[in-house]
Amino acid sequence: MSVISSPREKSLSTATDFMIGQNLWKKILIGMALGVLAGLALSPESMALLPAETAYNLGEWIRLPGVLFLGLIQMVIVPLVVCSIILGIAENGSVDNVRRLGLRIVPYFIMTTAIAITIGLFMVNIIKPGMAIDPEFARTVIAADSAENTTPARTFDDLTVPERIANMIPTNFAQASLERNMLQIVIAAILVGIALLTVTPKSGRPFRDLCISGQVLSMKIISWAMIIAPYAVFGLICSITIRIGFGALVSVGYYMLTVLAALVIMLGVYLLIVKFIAGQSLKSFIAGIREVQILAFSTSSSAAAMPFSIQAAEEKLNIKPEISRFVIPLGTTINMDGTALYQAVAAIFLCQVFGIELSFAAMLLLLMTTVGASIGTPATPGVGIVILATILVGIGVPVEGIALIIGVDRILDMCRTTINVTGDLTAASVMQRWGGVK
Ligand code: ASP
Repeated sequence: MSVISSPREKSLSTATDFMIGQNLWKKILIGMALGVLAGLALSPESMALLPAETAYNLGEWIRLPGVLFLGLIQMVIVPLVVCSIILGIAENGSVDNVRRLGLRIVPYFIMTTAIAITIGLFMVNIIKPGMAIDPEFARTVIAADSAENTTPARTFDDLTVPERIANMIPTNFAQASLERNMLQIVIAAILVGIALLTVTPKSGRPFRDLCISGQVLSMKIISWAMIIAPYAVFGLICSITIRIGFGALVSVGYYMLTVLAALVIMLGVYLLIVKFIAGQSLKSFIAGIREVQILAFSTSSSAAAMPFSIQAAEEKLNIKPEISRFVIPLGTTINMDGTALYQAVAAIFLCQVFGIELSFAAMLLLLMTTVGASIGTPATPGVGIVILATILVGIGVPVEGIALIIGVDRILDMCRTTINVTGDLTAASVMQRWGGVK
């Protein structure tokens, strides 16, 4: 089957061509580097070329393209995810395939997430970045932050486990999208997708066409957002650097390095999985997923990158549409290895800063909570740190500690999102071999 066969697929291709043709990734990396340099020059904590007040005001303006960029992405995420999941299931599957794949993919996702968290725990316990933080510095940042009250609010209610399970079904879809409860949204979309598979083509067609249009329009808006991506990245990074300054960057530098090193190891694990479990050539895998990784890196959103991941899986990795269109949307929502790894490192980092000793049992609890949390984390920018608050409460770490790491979260978010999408593409390659889809 030729992959680019419908207007929807053509529109996806045009959007990807735009990214490759414009060498967008180079521009984004340049934007990032210039952002740090400009931020250091303007930051009152570093070179202080301008008075503090003026620098902060200027920072707000420099950040504007970034805020607009993130706004555009967030605007289309719910329709994009819903339409893509419904189409993914309804267009290429059968109820039997969905069941067969689902039974294999969910344990696989849980296993890779546990591996990611273990790598994170291992690295943070070896490098001990929390020990490098001056307790005085930690106290000042946390005190300033509580005064400004910028600590992210908790998003999870204190529900019992049965209540949480019951809560997975959205009784009110409008409310689920209002609250951006991605797990509820995905479950609703999967159910509608399966329902579409079972009704007659005549009754299903109008709704399917509506989803096709919803997906194409959302993609168009994302491709517009990508035009300003390099400026957005410049603005976001520059304004962060203006605010936190060089001293703070260095203080949390060890923590950032720990997260980055652990993410790189996870990338290595994926490559091993691709080579030895999926039996694919590493060279073509890496070449095939490069553009999607850049998109994930620049948008910090696996949901925004999802349709491109599906396209790359089918066109570049030759994965069957029945697999890619089911595994990738599901993985985007429930398989967040980069996020889980980051949350584990951040939690232990804060334990080290606050001098909290975690027993082995507490680490195990952390592992389980993080697997659960990464399933519920929406695939949108910056939410990993909000969910982290829940994990911290679970293991008794003061949530205010987030103030220490929130400054550098944007950069880490870009990197963990890249790993999240790589994990989904790896999963699709594995299922191509082991998914049992005829
Ligand atoms: N931005 C991440 C994603 O979309 C989620 C997170 O860790 O904040 O995959």
